[in-house]
Parts: sequence; C-alpha cells; structure tokens
Amino acid sequence: MLNNNIIQRFTDIETPFYYYDLNALKQTLDACRDASAKHNFHVHYAMKANFNSRVIDTIQSYGFGADCVSGNEVKAAIAHGFGKDKVVFAGVGKSDKEINLALDADIFCFNVESVQELEIINDLAAAKGKTAGIAIRINPNVDAHTHHYITTGLDENKFGINTWQLNDVAAMLRKCANLRFLGIHFHIGSQITDMEVYRSLCIRINEMQDWFENQGFAVAILNAGGGLGVDYYNPDTNPVPDFESYFSIFKKFLNVKPGQEVHFELGRALVAQSASLISRVLYVKNGQKKNFLILDAGMTELMRPMLYQAYHAIENLSQKSKDDNSAMEHPKSEIKYDVVGPICESTDCFRKDVDLPQSYRGDLIAIRTAGAYGEVMASGYNLRDLVQSIYSE
Ligand SMILES: *Cc1c(COP(=O)(O)O)cnc(C)c1O
Repeated sequence: MLNNNIIQRFTDIETPFYYYDLNALKQTLDACRDASAKHNFHVHYAMKANFNSRVIDTIQSYGFGADCVSGNEVKAAIAHGFGKDKVVFAGVGKSDKEINLALDADIFCFNVESVQELEIINDLAAAKGKTAGIAIRINPNVDAHTHHYITTGLDENKFGINTWQLNDVAAMLRKCANLRFLGIHFHIGSQITDMEVYRSLCIRINEMQDWFENQGFAVAILNAGGGLGVDYYNPDTNPVPDFESYFSIFKKFLNVKPGQEVHFELGRALVAQSASLISRVLYVKNGQKKNFLILDAGMTELMRPMLYQAYHAIENLSQKSKDDNSAMEHPKSEIKYDVVGPICESTDCFRKDVDLPQSYRGDLIAIRTAGAYGEVMASGYNLRDLVQSIYSE
C-alpha cells in the first residue's frame, strides 16, 4: 500500500525508480513458507523473476532453494548463500561453459530439456570424474490457460521433452554412467490463476512417474515447477497469492510415494507484489481523440506490457495524496489517458485508455505489481541510465 508517508518520501527522489516494500515481500514469503511446510513441500525461488540483491537475500534467509536458468544465476545463488544442495538449473539452451560451472559448483540437480543435453552433461561430468544429478523436464501437453507468450507446457513449445521421446530418454539414461537420475520436472507456464490447470498437471505427473518406475528408474523427486499467478488488478486488496489452495491441490491430487520429495519453483508469486515502478509525468499531450501522459519511465524500466500485453494497475500518487489530504467526499472525475514512455518505439506504451484523475507535469505515477520480471528486464536501450531501486527499510 502506497500511503501518504511513502509518497512524501518519494518527492525528493529522482525518477524513475523501483520501490521495494520489503515488509510486503516478507508477508508473502511467510505465507508461502507456512503453506508449503504443512505438506513438507520444498520451494525453490525462480531467480529470474527478480535478482535484486536485497530481494534475493531476504528470500534466501527463509531457507528456500534456488531455481536458476543460467550459469550466472547459479553463481549468484551460491554467492548469496543458497546451499549448493538446494540449487537446480533449468533451461533449454545450457552452454558447455554453464554446465561446467554448475558441475564445478556441485549443484543438486540439472533439469534436462533434451536427449542430446543428457549426453552432453554426461560427457562433461565424465571429463571431471563427477556424477551429475539430473531430472527430466517433461512437456506434459497441459494448457496453462494463460497468455500464449508465457505458456510453456504444450507440444508446440520449445521447452522440455515430449512424451513420445521418453523411450530415447530411458535408453540414454541407461548408457550414461555419469548421470544420477533424481526425478521428473514440469513447468507449464506463468501467471496461472485457474487452479484446474494444476489438477490436470498432477494427473500427468502421476502417469509420468509410473512410466519411469515401470522402466526401473526410482523417482525420488517430483518437481512441479512454478507459475502461480498474482492479482495484477487488485494489488492492495489481494496482495498475497493463495498459497494454501495452490499447495492443497498438489497434496490432494499428487500421488506422493514414501520417501519422495515434492519440489516447486515459484518466481512471480513470491516477488511480484513487493515492488512498484515510480515515475513522473514529463508531459501531458491533449489530442483531439487521445490524451497522452508521457512518463519518464518506459520499456527500458518495465517491459512486460510491451513484451506480452501485461496489465499493471497505474495510479497517480500525487493526485491521490491530494484527495486523501483534503478528505474529499467526491473524488475528481477521471480522464482517459494513454500512458506512454519516452522510448523511440511505438510499442513503448504501458496501457491505453487508463482512467486517471486530471494529471499534470511532475505528478508521481506508480505502476504496481512490478516486482516480478520488472527490474531484471531493464535495459540501457537509447543509452538510458539503468533504473535505480529504493527500499522501504
Ligand atoms: C520461469 C520459471 C519458473 C518460475 O515461473 P513463475 O511463473 O515466475 O513462477 C519456474 N521454473 C522454470 C523452469 C522457469 O523457467
């Protein structure tokens, strides 16, 4: 919640910047830890969602593991104190350099996405006289019912191994003396809010683990990936995702055998509501058909709206705090603005037809729920300064 005290604090700070509410982050982490601990589930934080140092350190302090998708994320996870026995490494295109780095770090598990990758990891491990723990990332052909740009579990996606290739996987595993098969891994997409999807996933996981057991492979780990969505429309009234319901579904429908561990890799759900992107109105352009608010933040600071039409709540903090101070009974009437950035690309628009109070040059604008896939995707395009961050504490 961005109250007047916080808004007051923003007035002297150069925009744009990310504002991290570490208390909101901790509330979310508390809820996730408590809900997962009930069922003895293991949670890895998907570091690609946000690798801001303060955020990572806070998450690490909760004892979660780390889910990495690059060699540098593996390095960062270990540097930030995640135990190597809690680091997993996924990714459809791991380079030899990255695999070697992860082998040297003795990470817990590679989530392997092709038959060829199995062979390469085996060869590189053999050259070091090591054995690599691996899980097979299976493409379960479950539709995540989310935006097609962030769906990953359909046959047509590049991720994971399709089920018709599993015989080849089994043959390769039998051949590879330097791989240790740990289990099976799934990740079907992001910003999933339809819980039915997870029930379908559980059914596929059960089928797949039976298949591996029948082939003579003991499945020690079931890794269901991440993808739990957050409420981008109501960040103040619904700030913490429903971890209880999420984990309960897996408890109910997953066929967990004695001694098996169940793992998750949550990114967005843990961090999205902990940050807002704060910017100022540079110019107000009133056209004949359109009004534009031109901000000092754009796709170089937050790319999600431009990359996959993502919705973020947008607030005029300056006008909101004036209203709060004058305790107005009737809020001012609203105007529709296209809220755009300064970047020389037509796609540099946060949203069209946003209802906002009449806005002026210098007003502070908050783009909410920006803690996941926000700061991490910042760039220096147009040779702009890299976006800064400030913290609640
Ligand atoms: C991105 C990713 C995640 C996290 O996804 P969220 O939607 O942020 O929870 C988990 N696992 C893998 C393999 C990923 O690539």
